[in-house]
Amino acid sequence: MNTTRTATAQEAGVADAARPDVDRRAVVRALSSEVSRVTGAGDGDADVQAARLADLAAHYGAHPFTPLEQTRARLGLDRAEFAHLLDLFGRIPDLGTAVEHGPAGKYWSNTIKPLDAAGALDAAVYRKPAFPYSVGLYPGPTCMFRCHFCVRVTGARYEAASVPAGNETLAAIIDEVPTDNPKAMYMSGGLEPLTNPGLGELVSHAAGRGFDLTVYTNAFALTEQTLNRQPGLWELGAIRTSLYGLNNDEYETTTGKRGAFERVKKNLQGFLRMRAERDAPIRLGFNHIILPGRADRLTDLVDFIAELNESSPQRPLDFVTVREDYSGRDDGRLSDSERNELREGLVRFVDYAAERTPGMHIDLGYALESLRRGVDAELLRIRPETMRPTAHPQVAVQIDLLGDVYLYREAGFPELEGATRYIAGRVTPSTSLREVVENFVLENEGVQPRPGDEYFLDGFDQSVTARLNQLERDIADGWEDHRGFLRGR
Ligand code: SF4
Repeated sequence: MNTTRTATAQEAGVADAARPDVDRRAVVRALSSEVSRVTGAGDGDADVQAARLADLAAHYGAHPFTPLEQTRARLGLDRAEFAHLLDLFGRIPDLGTAVEHGPAGKYWSNTIKPLDAAGALDAAVYRKPAFPYSVGLYPGPTCMFRCHFCVRVTGARYEAASVPAGNETLAAIIDEVPTDNPKAMYMSGGLEPLTNPGLGELVSHAAGRGFDLTVYTNAFALTEQTLNRQPGLWELGAIRTSLYGLNNDEYETTTGKRGAFERVKKNLQGFLRMRAERDAPIRLGFNHIILPGRADRLTDLVDFIAELNESSPQRPLDFVTVREDYSGRDDGRLSDSERNELREGLVRFVDYAAERTPGMHIDLGYALESLRRGVDAELLRIRPETMRPTAHPQVAVQIDLLGDVYLYREAGFPELEGATRYIAGRVTPSTSLREVVENFVLENEGVQPRPGDEYFLDGFDQSVTARLNQLERDIADGWEDHRGFLRGR
């Protein structure tokens, strides 16, 4: 009987309640019968509650950061009515599914749920020490590019002599990270990881403990020689390559390096061939940033990938992650024409990729995914006044070759002005990462943000900061039991 009711609800679309194009009346009808079943309410009352529940699912499926009090005021409910509604929401599991199927659903399922399930967000909100959920290793001593948008200080690098000791520190951290989450670590920068000649050994060390590591690289040094000299690199879970253009001129304009595009392309073709020969499971993908007004280039990106795939038709490129660069806009807003152009570009891109590079996983992130689905996404713009002095080391930290533990992902560059303020402490032979985080959480009063500090946060840091601010707002407003609307546990 229970099965029949659930099937009826699903057919009528409760789990689709946050889809922008859904037949809302059908959702409310289906929800109304669920409400009657769960509460025993009569038709009239059930209809009213169903309409409110559908509204909640649609709202949080598209606008995940809204404080509860703001939603309560918008719905015009008193506190008791709203608490009742939130309880009811929790008793109909399909509604949680609906939120995850909404335009911002990936934010809930990929970011919030795992962090919540691990207790990392609560640890940050309640200022309790916890081993970081995510540990970024920044092993690169230098970088061969000078990208015009990069915050790295020209000429600043880690001394070559610091690399062996740095690698020992990073190996000790690898030994310290609990093995229950194979994706707990990744390698990035800061500077370019492949400029570290010991990278393969570090990867192998981590793989030996069961970690599925992704390295973020510009792939300039991903040559056949590098792969032969550092066989440990084949034990990576994935290589994520940042692309800086689709031809030599674009690459040179962005990176300042002549001939870089041809070399990166050759490296990637060689890598795909070698991977196929070895039948290695390692995944390969791209990180692609759409520059303002350049959404039309996404189909050229697909053509480029299709050309690379000719080197290994049986094992093509695995994934592409696309983000938009909003950094030049004060409020992160797009004009109507820009939004339409971007949306059309995204729709064309997804269709074209399905045709030319079938099977390739496309991750648009929740903002672009929302836009593609016709919803104006809420863009995160964390400001110094909304940054959290205590940051979130229980959620994520990044460690460079000196063992310095950075609180934000874009702060780990040598000599970057103001960035040393965001070092929580240093891992040494006598101080573990766990101790550095514990000391920071229990004893440090935090970092007072200054104008410009917001650029130390990447998209993940911004999402986490927005979520933590939301949780704190809800607690302060007396909604502790319901904080954050949906939680992962
Ligand atoms: S963005 Fe990356 S590849 Fe470009 S200069 Fe900065 S560290 Fe190097």
